[in-house]
Amino acid sequence: MEPIIIENVLLNENRTNILIENSKITGIGTQIPMPVNAIRIDGRGKAAFPAFANMHTHAAMTLLKGMGSDMPLQQWLNESIWPAEKHLDGEAVYWGVKLACLEMIKSGTTLFNDMYFHLPHAAKAVAEMGIRGVLGLNVFGDGDELTDESFRQLRGEVEGAGELLKLSIAPHSVYTVSEKGLVHCAEMSSRHDTIFQIHMSETEHEVQECLSNHQFRPYALLEHLGVLGLTEGRFVGAHSLYLDAEEIDLMARHRITVTHNPASNLKLGSGYRFLYTEMRNAGVNVALGTDGSASSNSLDMIEAARLMSYLQKGVRQDPTVLPATELMQVVSENGFKAAGINAGRIEVGKVADLILVDLDNLAFVPMHNPLSGLFYAAHGDAVDTVVCNGRIVMRNRHVEGEEEIRTQARRHAQLLRVER
Ligand SMILES: [Zn+2]
Repeated sequence: MEPIIIENVLLNENRTNILIENSKITGIGTQIPMPVNAIRIDGRGKAAFPAFANMHTHAAMTLLKGMGSDMPLQQWLNESIWPAEKHLDGEAVYWGVKLACLEMIKSGTTLFNDMYFHLPHAAKAVAEMGIRGVLGLNVFGDGDELTDESFRQLRGEVEGAGELLKLSIAPHSVYTVSEKGLVHCAEMSSRHDTIFQIHMSETEHEVQECLSNHQFRPYALLEHLGVLGLTEGRFVGAHSLYLDAEEIDLMARHRITVTHNPASNLKLGSGYRFLYTEMRNAGVNVALGTDGSASSNSLDMIEAARLMSYLQKGVRQDPTVLPATELMQVVSENGFKAAGINAGRIEVGKVADLILVDLDNLAFVPMHNPLSGLFYAAHGDAVDTVVCNGRIVMRNRHVEGEEEIRTQARRHAQLLRVER
């Protein structure tokens, strides 16, 4: 891999050069050496930031974007999403994931944590797009079909597709997976040392149902079953909107990562009182996601970050909550950390996942503060260049093969609407 040198770029309000070699940031400064074989990027008129980590999504569902809006969750799933999903074959998933990766790259994301099916097709798509995917194998019921042998085989297919891919285990939720299935998934995650990801406490109804069926709140149930112990440091709980203090304590103790999905939670009417400050103070690793485009309609992490920030400030009636520097950590470093990747900061020694934004974008004109511009004014389309693992995946907003992705994604989305 050729080294990359980004020259005269704005980093933390100073102009500097950034050198990237062998997937790492190896030099920052105006006097650093410039290898003769380096790819040179002119950073004038650009600012560098860490790339984003979208820690909960269902990438292929971007083909369902805009289907059946403005309905209650269960009705939306039953009448709109699940019938269309029946038509989603491997090829459709492949093009859906390509489209999602294209949108993510164009808005500065280089890592996504996903839950879906047809994973080998998804893995091929992610590998071709050049970004990182943690692909979660969805499990329902008792999960009997998931065996050590089947997992090993699938892992070979997914992780064999490219070095930036990881397979994880994704029991859907405590209301669609049995107690036996949850324990089985946790044991598998422990034996195979993979991320365990699950939808948790997304709605108030779900928590009440868990209490009446299991006599525990969702996180307390997983503690009771031994799941939190088995998945220590590898557990990613999406949503987690309805928690009590005892659960937050359990989550911190078991080094859980929580993924907040403000756009999905708001649009589906699930709620908005995400307990960010309480979780952060307890030591829970809080990351951010968009959820699938079927519910949130967008994979733009800048939009997700702004929504999270504004909700925290508004709900708490306190503008000092979640300042932009801390928001950057939530959007980037905390997500990479959950996936075991040493990225999320532009510093020597860190893995080179970073973006350049175009300072001619009106969000940055004028620019009193680059981070304010990014989170409080910009949209994903301000991103000009994306580097993932030391490789350029977008330059001057151009991504390899994007015309074909548009054409194929439209075609496959149309096929989902046909009665078969
Ligand atoms: Zn989800």
